[in-house]
Amino acid sequence: VLEILGLHKKFKEIEVLKGVDLEMEPGDVVSVIGSSGSGKTTMLRCVNLLEDFEQGSIRIDGEEIGYTAAPQRRRRKESEIARQRSMTGMVFQQFNLFPHLSALGNVTLGLTKVKQLPKAEATAIAERWLERVGMAERRNHYPGQLSGGQQQRVAIARAIAMNPKVMLFDEVTSALDPELVNEVLNVIKSLAADGMTMLLVTHEMKFAYEVSRRVVFMNQGRIEEQGAPEAVFHNPQSKRLADFLKNAK
Ligand code: ATP
Repeated sequence: VLEILGLHKKFKEIEVLKGVDLEMEPGDVVSVIGSSGSGKTTMLRCVNLLEDFEQGSIRIDGEEIGYTAAPQRRRRKESEIARQRSMTGMVFQQFNLFPHLSALGNVTLGLTKVKQLPKAEATAIAERWLERVGMAERRNHYPGQLSGGQQQRVAIARAIAMNPKVMLFDEVTSALDPELVNEVLNVIKSLAADGMTMLLVTHEMKFAYEVSRRVVFMNQGRIEEQGAPEAVFHNPQSKRLADFLKNAK
């Protein structure tokens, strides 16, 4: 589904991604771990077309997506960007729900506005996903009336209701009180068990271990090591990964 090849990204003069390659098959669950500033979030944002990049390519189902800053590349139109962006569903650290819309309104909006579905159909899809994340009873609540964990579950429902090819999760529990972390992680786990293709940036090592098919360790803009969770966590090959894991515990 997703193929990242030789991805390079700079902010001004600083090279944040120095040639990242990553491939995902349908149903893959890949966690990206690594120290702060290693480029994890930036990689995800490139896939979601929130950042441009200088070199490399990102493909989803074979279609080259994203806009690069390289002058020889065609700059893409807004409508094209919106269409490509909807191939992925991104969930952010700070929920980013629309405060003036109910939970149901938040999930329905993209379905009616972007997918242009009739209201009744959009509502039916939204209710199904709110049910799936355990938020059906609170569908008429506004974000301000919901806990962080509940808001994040609505945000997950909103992203997944659009039927993306890949779900992107960017440190989605970092802003939550500790007692709310598990309700969100459990939702993600159950979606993973259903075969949803997912790329997650996380600081939750136990979660990464349990949910992932593959774990990717990023260090200073490169993928330093990757493999099955057992190998990455119990038998790190590089000293950097071993040191990172020691400090993460
Ligand atoms: P964290 O775990 O702290 O979120 P990360 O691995 O996700 O870290 P990124 O957020 O991708 O790292 O950031 C990589 C580097 O790029 C950091 O040094 C950061 O300061 C820098 N950076 C990120 N966004 C910008 C920006 N918009 N402008 C300038 N520099 C940026």
